[in-house]
Amino acid sequence: MNILEWIYPPRCPLCGELVAMNGEKVHKVCYKNLIRVREPLCKHCGKPLMSDEEKIVEFCQDCRRRRQNLDKGFDQGRAVWVYEGQIQKSLMDYKYKGMKSYTDFYGQEAVRAWGNWIRKKDPQVLVPVPIHSRKKRIRGFNQAELLAGSIGKFMDIPVDELLCRKRWTEPQKAVSGRERRHNLTKSIEAVDRAGEYERVMLIDDIYTTGSTMEVCAEILKKKGVKEVYFLTICIGYGNG
Ligand SMILES: [Zn+2]
Ligand SMILES: [Zn+2]
Repeated sequence: MNILEWIYPPRCPLCGELVAMNGEKVHKVCYKNLIRVREPLCKHCGKPLMSDEEKIVEFCQDCRRRRQNLDKGFDQGRAVWVYEGQIQKSLMDYKYKGMKSYTDFYGQEAVRAWGNWIRKKDPQVLVPVPIHSRKKRIRGFNQAELLAGSIGKFMDIPVDELLCRKRWTEPQKAVSGRERRHNLTKSIEAVDRAGEYERVMLIDDIYTTGSTMEVCAEILKKKGVKEVYFLTICIGYGNG
């Protein structure tokens, strides 16, 4: 046991309780409770398909609704786990209790699950989904930046912060889907060098309805990026 472990005893990145000092990184019981994203998946966003109808069309409901416009946004996405059970607490603690030590656990799991897929898509850079600077100041960090850094370290892919949020938008629950998208489009901006890349992969902690991801991808494509993929730690079931 090194001095750091003595001062900061290792915690299970899922439940937050201490783990045994035998090198165990995560409780087996906690880990077994996670729902890994498995086929059949939505061809576009990678959400697990639930109904027979979805399985036939191979698109989730959200993507099917947007089908005409899909090529304007991201090209394909993948997530590691379904946002249910233990991982919800884990990601909440990560963001709101500042459990930054969980980063490499998520990063390693993402690479274990989708490393081959990432290689195949061959992104030149990983791009964190931006949060507003005020939020970042309060939280002290942007979880997407940490995650991109970790995945990039394991995959040997550089991280480039091509996107930023320029103005504070109202909490999104208060507005309609359309207004929300409009606010998002106005609040996210890409730096000019984005256009120097052909293939990028957006990184974030959670994918729900996908509007943020779609908007980020659209903005990058407007700058000239040809292919935009995304990878998240979690994805919501059905309509998020
Ligand atoms: Zn645990
Ligand atoms: Zn989908």
